[in-house]
This record gives sequence, structure tokens and C-alpha cells, in this order.
Amino acid sequence: MKIPEYSSQKNSTMTFCSASITHNYLVLIGDEYFYLFTGKQIGICFTDLIHPDFLEEFTTSCENLSMGESVRLLTMMKDLTDSYHLADITISNNNHILSNEAVWDLQIYNVTSIENRHIKFSNDINKYRSFLSMYQDYLFDYDTETGAFSIFLYLGSKSTPFIQCSIDEFHEKVMPHYTRAEDSEEFENFFQYVKKASENFSITLNLPSLKDFSVMDRFRINGKVIYKTNKKPVVIGIIHHTSSKDNGLIPYYTTKEAKDPATGLLNKRACHEYTNDILNLNDGNKHYLAIIDIDNFKDINDTYGHLFGDEVIQKVASILSSSLNARGICGRFGGDEFYIFTVNIKSEDQLRNMLTAMRKKLYYAYEGSITDFHVTLSIGVSLYPDDGSQYETLFKKADKCLYLAKNKGKNRFIIYDEEKHGNLTEDSKLLRRAFNPLEKAEYLTGIVADVALFATDKKTEGLFEILEVIRTNFELDGIRIFSGESMELLYQCGQYKESPVLAGSFTNGNYTEHYNNNHVLVIGSLPSFEANDREFSKSQTAINIMATVSFYIDKADGTRIIFFYDIFNHSIRWNETDKNYLLTISKILGSIL
Ligand code: GH3
Ligand code: MG
Repeated sequence: MKIPEYSSQKNSTMTFCSASITHNYLVLIGDEYFYLFTGKQIGICFTDLIHPDFLEEFTTSCENLSMGESVRLLTMMKDLTDSYHLADITISNNNHILSNEAVWDLQIYNVTSIENRHIKFSNDINKYRSFLSMYQDYLFDYDTETGAFSIFLYLGSKSTPFIQCSIDEFHEKVMPHYTRAEDSEEFENFFQYVKKASENFSITLNLPSLKDFSVMDRFRINGKVIYKTNKKPVVIGIIHHTSSKDNGLIPYYTTKEAKDPATGLLNKRACHEYTNDILNLNDGNKHYLAIIDIDNFKDINDTYGHLFGDEVIQKVASILSSSLNARGICGRFGGDEFYIFTVNIKSEDQLRNMLTAMRKKLYYAYEGSITDFHVTLSIGVSLYPDDGSQYETLFKKADKCLYLAKNKGKNRFIIYDEEKHGNLTEDSKLLRRAFNPLEKAEYLTGIVADVALFATDKKTEGLFEILEVIRTNFELDGIRIFSGESMELLYQCGQYKESPVLAGSFTNGNYTEHYNNNHVLVIGSLPSFEANDREFSKSQTAINIMATVSFYIDKADGTRIIFFYDIFNHSIRWNETDKNYLLTISKILGSIL
């Protein structure tokens, strides 16, 4: 059904109404809102109200209804000013009969008005949430119907719970911390006010600090009762800290000092403390931690100047925070590095959608103002609780993924996956090395030099250790070295699923056609190499090798040595520099084999 254009601003504000009509579509009876909508009281023929484009669908739907059946239609209905509105109508045959003919009951929703109301409510909600997040007092509510009691704080337009339990559990939790009778009496009064849903109350009492129950603090609590639509009372209130502010009760991240002055985002300490607080809640929800770094930001500074660089940082900040849309916190760690910790992103799909939207928005942010200029990000992500329960562990894993994202060509996000990215312990020294290309080049040259030094001994003893060093530093999963006519496996390192074998042209000697003039073969995705050599590709993917770079070296005595540097489980885009280092390393090692 095509929905014709309609004006959402026209007169009728009716949201819902109902009417009953006879078999010849005369309105038998309508409710007050129906008559307000049509502007007439009598002689209404319902088919006159339906837009001609929808008339046939409407009448056929009515006439095809058997007893007890209903049908729902999206249609256009005219109001008293002759403006059409998109209406959702449920037609029911409720077994009412008039002059031997069925009477149809209609329930009508004015979609336009529902949409407008929804927009108004969402705007109001956003406004009040923003008001609340400017506030640094704790808030509480107690739902008398469910017994749920919570204390929370608004942060970045989002409520962050500190306590979530039944009111009796809260009582049980707090009471043991009182050592003086007058303190527990005061608390008992508060407890009774809340539990009995007293209309209005104000009380000053000592409560354990919500961040550290072993410390007492003085609070003034104002409470009142509001009623839900089902008339059940809910007690709501404000918990205001009355003594010194600087005792750790008000979290640092809610203070002015916690904001990065350039972007208004949280600073590093604030992000760390907020994340720890949420992790300590152990709330059973998923939380994603993302570290984000602008790609080639130095070039932006160099090409367009530092001031423009600053503007780009602000643009990134505002896109990150609008895309996150209060589903977590967003911080700047300094320089061109940002941080996100989510509290309300429920699935990896949702996260991917958000990150994709964020990257797109940024990519096109300067469209139309600067030709061929796009800002891109590299992002590493880890997940609580799957990847760890501590900030440090989650941070390291996300950081490793950021490093990989940079290394694999930037402008992408990588979500940590232990199977793909390995455990962190052995190669955590790598973290961040790649952020500075000069340092990275220096570091890798050092590895090549180590290999060369090793080779000067002309002994293969200790070769396995050196292969391990190469494997970890180049982020490889395995290295294989074959030799001779029959492609005998000389060395291997890495956890191959099964003993690595070769097949296809590699066993019948025709494989050299896959290599270039420098004896180099780069395969980013082995499954797509099937077109070149099906058997070889199959034999490799069967043992989970998904990408490889290979070199063959012919020695003076005519022996041929073939190196494979392998990646398991995922395809990659090989980095040109790494490939060249590996070629050099292969040549050096080839000389001693
Ligand atoms: P990569 O893609 O590897 O991240 O390369 P990059 O050029 O972005 O390198 P890196 O992240 O290491 O460099 C960040 C640079 O950002 C270094 C510094 O000159 C610049 N920078 C740091 N803070 C600011 C700032 O507040 N404003 C501006 N304009 N530049 C900054
Ligand atoms: Mg950068």
C-alpha cells in the first residue's frame, strides 16, 4: 500500500477513537473523540471519510469478515477540516446484528497524532534527563507494586544505578553498618516513610557512603509519592549530601574537573573511575570498551594546520557522543585518542551498527566543504564480561585490537576475539608500538638484525626460538619452512590444527607460476585463492590457515626452500612493510638452511 503524503500539522489531535457501523457503512454510534474528529454528530457515512484510494480495500475487508473475526488496516481518514490522516483501523465483526445484517466495530488510531505525541514525549524525556544529569544528587525510587528500590545518578543523560534491590534487602545491607542507636533509628524512620509510601517527607540521616559502605556520610533526603497509571504509588526522592563534597561520595566523573576542556568529554581518570564503578556493580549486562584513534592525524595537522586539527578533534568528539546517544560514556584520553564504555548496548550487532554509523558520519563530515578530505578512525573493542572483568584487562585487549586495526590498514574496527587475536600475555609488549610508525620501523629492523646475528653463527640450533620471535612480533599464527623436491616440512612453529601439508600444484611442482618475479606470493584470503589452485587452497583452509605470505629461495647448491607465514581463522590485508621485512628475514634464514 502506498502511503500518500499527508500533513502532520493539521487540526485533529485525536489519537484514538471508536465507532460502530452498519452493513451499508452508516455510523451507528461513535465515541466522543470520533465525533470530535469528524466534526459531525449525525448522518455520517463512514465510507465518505475514507480516502478514495483506500476505499475498496476498506469495504472488501469489512465484507469478508466472518463472525468473531477482525482485520487491521492502514488507511487514510478525513477529519472535520477535510485533511486526511494516516489511520490504523481495526475492524471487528463482534457478532452484533441489526436488521439481519452484521454491525462492524471500528477502533481507530490516528498515526500522525501518535507520532507527534511520541516525538513530544521523547523530547521531554531527553530534556528532563539532561536537567537531571546537571544535578549531582543521587535520586531514588521505590515501586510499591514490585518492591524494587533503586538509587541512581544521572550521568550523560543516562541513569547509572548504584543500588538496585528490594527495599528490605537495602535495609538489611545498611543496618549492620550503624554502630550508634540514634543512627539506626533515623534510618528506620526513613525506611518506614518509604515502605509505607508517605506522601511527603524530609529527613536528615547518616548513611553509608554509596561508594564505600564502610564510610558514613550525612544526607538530607526529600521524598514524595507519585502514582502510576494503574494508581499504584511510587516513592521518589533526592538524596543530598550535606557535608564536605570532597570525601569521595560524589564521584569524580560527575564533577566539572572531570571534563576535557577542549571537547567536553570525560578525561582519562574519569573514564577509568566510571568504568570501574560500573564493573564493580557486576550487573550481569554486557559492556563494550572501545579505544579509538584518529587515522593519520599528524598529516591533518601538517596539511591544514593545528587549529584545524583542533576543530577535527571537536568534530570527532561530537560525532562520537551523538552516535553513542547516552548509551554509555565517551571520553578523550588526550591527543587524538578517544574512549567509549557502553552501558546500554545489548548486542554486538547493535555495537557494529553504532560504530558503522559513527564512522560514516565522520567520513562525510567535511563533504562539500573540503574536497577529497575524509577523517577516519581505527577502533579496538573488548567486551565485559566475556573478555575480562577488570578495566586493565579489557583495556589491554581493546588496545591490542586498535593496534591490529592500525596495522591492517586503519579505518576499521576490530572486536576482540581470543581465537583470532590470541591471549595477551605473550605479546603485550607489542601494544602501542605501532602507533608511531618510526618506532615501529625501528623495532622491526631490530628483529631483522637479531635474525641476521643469529644467522652469522651458521648453525640452526635455536632456530625454533628465533621463529617464535618472528611469529609473535609480526602478529603471525604460524610459520612453516619446506624444502626439497618433495616439499618436506623442515620447521614449523605455531599451533597448527594438524600437521601442515601442501597439495595441488605445490606437490606437482607447478606452484612457481603463483609467485611473482621476486619469488613472493601474497594471499590475503585462501578461500578466494581457490580459483588459482583449488587443491592447495582446500588443503590449507582444512587446517584453518586463511591467509599466508610465502617466499621461495633457491640456494647455490640448487636446493629450494619455501617459507610460509600464516594467519589462522581470518583473512587479512597484508601490510607491505611487514611483507618486505619477512622477505628479508627469509633470505637470511635461507642462507643457513
Ligand atoms: P595513526 O594513524 O597511526 O594514529 O597516525 P597519526 O598521525 O594519527 O599519529 P598519532 O596518533 O601518533 O599522532 C597524534 C598526533 O596528534 C600527535 C600530535 O602532534 C597531535 N596532537 C595531539 N594533541 C593534539 C591537539 O590537541 N590538537 C592538535 N591539532 N593536534 C594534536
Ligand atoms: Mg592517530
